[in-house]
Amino acid sequence: MFNKGSELLKLCKEQNKKISEIVMEKEMDDNDISYDELMDKMKSVLDTMIKSATTALDKEVISVSKLSGGDAKKMEDYKNKGNTISGELITSAMAKALSTSEVNASMGRIIAAPTAGASGILPSAIITVKDKFNLSEEDMIAGLFTAAGIGEIIAKNATISGAEGGCQAECGAASSMAAAAIVEMVGGNAEASLNAASFAMINIMGLVCDPVAGLVEFPCALRNASGVVNALVSADIAMAGIKSLVPFDEVIDAMYRVGKSMPESLKETALGGVAATPTGDKLKGRVL
Ligand code: SF4
Repeated sequence: MFNKGSELLKLCKEQNKKISEIVMEKEMDDNDISYDELMDKMKSVLDTMIKSATTALDKEVISVSKLSGGDAKKMEDYKNKGNTISGELITSAMAKALSTSEVNASMGRIIAAPTAGASGILPSAIITVKDKFNLSEEDMIAGLFTAAGIGEIIAKNATISGAEGGCQAECGAASSMAAAAIVEMVGGNAEASLNAASFAMINIMGLVCDPVAGLVEFPCALRNASGVVNALVSADIAMAGIKSLVPFDEVIDAMYRVGKSMPESLKETALGGVAATPTGDKLKGRVL
């Protein structure tokens, strides 16, 4: 039905539909399920996302390795003091992204969107925008379908694996998915969603994958916090009417080429970046 962003956009224009509607039709077709079954499935995904994004806000969730944890609560407490630099919406979004990352590192239940490492970005974006604009559960679910469509295109035409393309492929893909979703949630059209997805990827293109001790904890959680901010900012840039000079499909191709040209040390091997610093080495020794 669609493999590229340009094809998805064409379908939206021809049929005067939102991205989420096209993706839902494709899902029903591909899986031979009814609308109600599809909605039930995504509602269950949404419930898990909400739980993971809020679990670590009021209690410390420490990782299995004890390398990380408690930062979501720190961020939430900081936000609640009301004197933050970037404001309530941004700090609240970062706290929620950190929460899911901490739940993941503690072996809790998360939704890989598109991967476990980048699982904090989309739930936080969807909840943050729903809260700000007082949207409904249906709006959130529609946002998730839009995100799924963008993720599918990235996976088909490039990669969503840190081991193959660096963190740009994981947190970049998650940011793109989230940016497109929230644009639709606030009333933007399909073109604006694809522009937002392009901006989010361009903004972090080249980001390496360098998990300390090979664990999906540091710097992963931080990148989920900044990834959701990237999504929100990219959505605002698109909603301002700014268009990407380079179309979405070409941006994704570029990300893939950048990923392929990265040395192996920067693709989840923990042999480069912050993983290979003296402190990274020391932490690895402590954990292992
Ligand atoms: S640094 Fe690597 S392991 Fe961590 S979130 Fe990014 S891609 Fe995943």
